[in-house]
Amino acid sequence: MNDDAPIFDPQAFRLAPQEADLTALARRLGAENFAGRAAAYDRDAIFPTENYDDLHAAGLLSICVPKAHGGHGAPYRAYMLTAAEIGRYCGATALTFNMHVCSCLWTGDLADDLDMDGLERDRHDRHRAKHYARIVEDGRIYAQPFSEGGAAAAGVVPFSTSARKVDGGWVIKGKKIFASLSGHAHYYGVLCGEVKPGEKPSRKDTMYIAVPADAEGVSVEGDWDPLGMRATVSRNLIFKDVFVSEDEELMPRGVYYQAATRWPHMFMTLSPAYMGIAQAAYDFTVKYLRGEWPGLPPVKRRIYPTKQIALAEMRVRLEQTKALWFQAISEARPDPSKEQVLRAYAAQFSVMENANALCQLAIRTCGGQSMLKSLPIERLYRDSRCGSLMLPWTAEICLDRIGREGLYEPGESD
Ligand SMILES: Cc1cc2nc3c(=O)[nH]c(=O)nc-3n(C[C@H](O)[C@H](O)[C@H](O)COP(=O)(O)OP(=O)(O)OC[C@H]3O[C@@H](n4cnc5c(N)ncnc54)[C@H](O)[C@@H]3O)c2cc1C
Repeated sequence: MNDDAPIFDPQAFRLAPQEADLTALARRLGAENFAGRAAAYDRDAIFPTENYDDLHAAGLLSICVPKAHGGHGAPYRAYMLTAAEIGRYCGATALTFNMHVCSCLWTGDLADDLDMDGLERDRHDRHRAKHYARIVEDGRIYAQPFSEGGAAAAGVVPFSTSARKVDGGWVIKGKKIFASLSGHAHYYGVLCGEVKPGEKPSRKDTMYIAVPADAEGVSVEGDWDPLGMRATVSRNLIFKDVFVSEDEELMPRGVYYQAATRWPHMFMTLSPAYMGIAQAAYDFTVKYLRGEWPGLPPVKRRIYPTKQIALAEMRVRLEQTKALWFQAISEARPDPSKEQVLRAYAAQFSVMENANALCQLAIRTCGGQSMLKSLPIERLYRDSRCGSLMLPWTAEICLDRIGREGLYEPGESD
């Protein structure tokens, strides 16, 4: 039986009934199924296919598909809280789940907040209905490759992967790196720049298009043997003049740019995996020091004051992280104030850095045995290191923006 308490207690944090139900479901799946599989996926760097089967069977692949289309219709916060519970048991499943869910959240709840004229809205509704049906009915999985190895994924320059409009569709050409779920997703939700003859590339012309994994000209290349988050299988994707029908547009022209500028909290969706890891590091330490970790002799280490202080330090850091993150995800909305955006950067930074700091403290406190691969903490430690690297809101970029935007108002310079 799973005795893990919720990361965010529904009563204490005043969760909506849907949030309480979804987080409980994710916690049950995570504890009963994902936790036991995580070590093998990590060791062999293989995609968590069985976990995805479970997510589909439980209806969680459709968590952010609107109710009218057969999904849970979970809004942003409900998704974030649910994904954090998954991250507790398998970080790589939670991280890849994010790539999949964004194809529904961004095209669903977020897009409903954005401006589109009647024709665009109709077109968007037609297209997304097709994507949602694939997910709800057939358990199809979407990936979200945007990184290219240059400044595009940081949101600084246009994507160099190009989309050229042709009769009835688009021709996609380019290369994406670090494409989680590569070789396992059924569709790649590619961010690319529309080529407009005679015009300079612009971020405003970013297109978000689903490329079927089996389309002619799509290939996966490179190996994948990283430090952490190994089960994400984030290899390179090559698109060699790939034709896709125009129904595959995940957003109409101009809408991705609008989302990225008006709904900035959309980039925090990579953080729940690491919120879950932070909680898992704390939970492990408590069980270990109490001599209650399953399979280990019941040796108690909680009697030592140094262990108690270390656990206290961990608790303080965890509570700080949870409080800030919960506030940031609760106030996410279109056109947030400057204060809200700065808080979102601070929350992202805190989750990503503190998840790793908590894992470090857990290992120091629990000692040598905790480094063994038979226990989860060394995997949590390696997985947690990846959080700060996730573009577009890496830990460095968050600090950069908090500092600059705290000191300069728009239009000011020295
Ligand atoms: C486990 C894992 C899974 C991933 N999955 C995906 C995925 O599914 N899809 C996807 O698109 N990407 C994914 N990524 C990629 C990730 O978001 C980054 O794009 C990738 O780690 C960038 O690597 P890089 O070394 O080329 O970054 P670089 O562009 O070289 O940047 C290195 C660092 O420099 C800093 N930096 C970069 N640009 C700026 C700037 N303009 N201002 C200030 N600082 C800057 C950042 O801190 C950045 O971390 C994944 C990465 C990991 C580790």
